[in-house]
Amino acid sequence: MALTILADCINCDMCAPECPNNAISLKRLQNPDGSPGKRIYQIDADLCTECVGFYDNPTCVEVCPIDVVVKLPAP
Ligand code: SF4
Ligand code: SF4
Repeated sequence: MALTILADCINCDMCAPECPNNAISLKRLQNPDGSPGKRIYQIDADLCTECVGFYDNPTCVEVCPIDVVVKLPAP
Protein backbone atom coordinates (compact mmCIF):
# COMPACT_ATOMS: atom_id res chain seq x y z
CA MET A 1 0.00 0.00 0.00
CA ALA A 2 1.08 3.56 -0.47
CA LEU A 3 1.82 5.04 2.94
CA THR A 4 5.23 6.04 4.20
CA ILE A 5 6.80 7.67 7.25
CA LEU A 6 9.04 10.66 6.57
CA ALA A 7 12.53 10.92 8.07
CA ASP A 8 11.27 13.69 10.40
CA CYS A 9 9.66 10.96 12.58
CA ILE A 10 10.48 11.56 16.24
CA ASN A 11 9.95 7.91 17.32
CA CYS A 12 7.15 8.90 19.68
CA ASP A 13 5.73 5.32 19.64
CA MET A 14 2.17 6.48 19.01
CA CYS A 15 1.56 4.77 15.68
CA ALA A 16 3.06 1.28 15.96
CA PRO A 17 0.77 -0.05 18.73
CA GLU A 18 -2.29 1.24 16.84
CA CYS A 19 -1.58 -0.61 13.61
CA PRO A 20 -3.98 -3.56 13.19
CA ASN A 21 -1.51 -5.35 10.91
CA ASN A 22 1.74 -4.87 12.86
CA ALA A 23 3.10 -3.15 9.78
CA ILE A 24 5.03 -0.44 11.64
CA SER A 25 8.45 -1.11 13.17
CA LEU A 26 11.78 0.59 13.83
CA LYS A 27 14.14 0.42 10.88
CA ARG A 28 17.47 2.04 10.20
CA LEU A 29 17.69 4.52 7.36
CA GLN A 30 20.72 4.73 5.08
CA ASN A 31 22.63 7.97 4.69
CA PRO A 32 23.29 9.29 1.18
CA ASP A 33 26.91 8.10 1.48
CA GLY A 34 25.73 4.56 2.25
CA SER A 35 26.57 4.65 5.96
CA PRO A 36 23.95 3.62 8.54
CA GLY A 37 21.54 6.46 9.36
CA LYS A 38 19.15 7.06 12.21
CA ARG A 39 16.44 4.61 13.24
CA ILE A 40 12.85 5.68 12.69
CA TYR A 41 9.54 3.92 12.42
CA GLN A 42 8.77 2.63 8.95
CA ILE A 43 5.76 0.97 7.32
CA ASP A 44 6.09 -2.46 5.72
CA ALA A 45 4.27 -2.00 2.43
CA ASP A 46 3.58 -5.74 2.23
CA LEU A 47 1.66 -5.67 5.54
CA CYS A 48 -0.09 -2.28 5.40
CA THR A 49 -3.66 -2.41 4.13
CA GLU A 50 -4.32 1.28 4.81
CA CYS A 51 -6.56 0.06 7.65
CA VAL A 52 -9.32 -1.03 5.28
CA GLY A 53 -11.80 -3.13 7.28
CA PHE A 54 -10.54 -1.78 10.62
CA TYR A 55 -10.90 2.00 10.47
CA ASP A 56 -12.43 4.57 8.11
CA ASN A 57 -9.02 6.26 7.75
CA PRO A 58 -5.42 5.09 8.22
CA THR A 59 -5.06 5.16 11.99
CA CYS A 60 -1.30 5.83 11.91
CA VAL A 61 -2.02 9.06 10.03
CA GLU A 62 -4.69 9.98 12.57
CA VAL A 63 -2.48 9.46 15.66
CA CYS A 64 0.80 10.95 14.41
CA PRO A 65 1.29 14.23 16.31
CA ILE A 66 3.57 15.78 13.71
CA ASP A 67 1.90 14.54 10.51
CA VAL A 68 4.84 12.64 9.08
CA VAL A 69 2.83 9.64 7.86
CA VAL A 70 1.94 10.50 4.30
CA LYS A 71 0.49 8.89 1.22
CA LEU A 72 2.97 8.34 -1.55
CA PRO A 73 2.05 10.00 -4.82
CA ALA A 74 0.61 7.64 -7.39
CA PRO A 75 3.32 6.29 -9.72
S1 SF4 B 1 -2.44 2.58 7.43
FE1 SF4 B 1 -3.18 1.18 9.00
S2 SF4 B 1 -2.40 -0.83 8.33
FE2 SF4 B 1 -1.18 0.73 7.29
S3 SF4 B 1 0.59 1.08 8.59
FE3 SF4 B 1 -0.97 2.62 9.12
S4 SF4 B 1 -2.05 1.73 10.85
FE4 SF4 B 1 -0.95 0.06 9.83
S1 SF4 C 1 3.33 8.67 15.36
FE1 SF4 C 1 4.50 9.85 13.83
S2 SF4 C 1 6.26 10.70 14.91
FE2 SF4 C 1 5.36 9.10 16.20
S3 SF4 C 1 6.56 7.24 15.74
FE3 SF4 C 1 4.76 7.25 14.38
S4 SF4 C 1 5.40 8.29 12.50
FE4 SF4 C 1 6.94 8.75 14.07
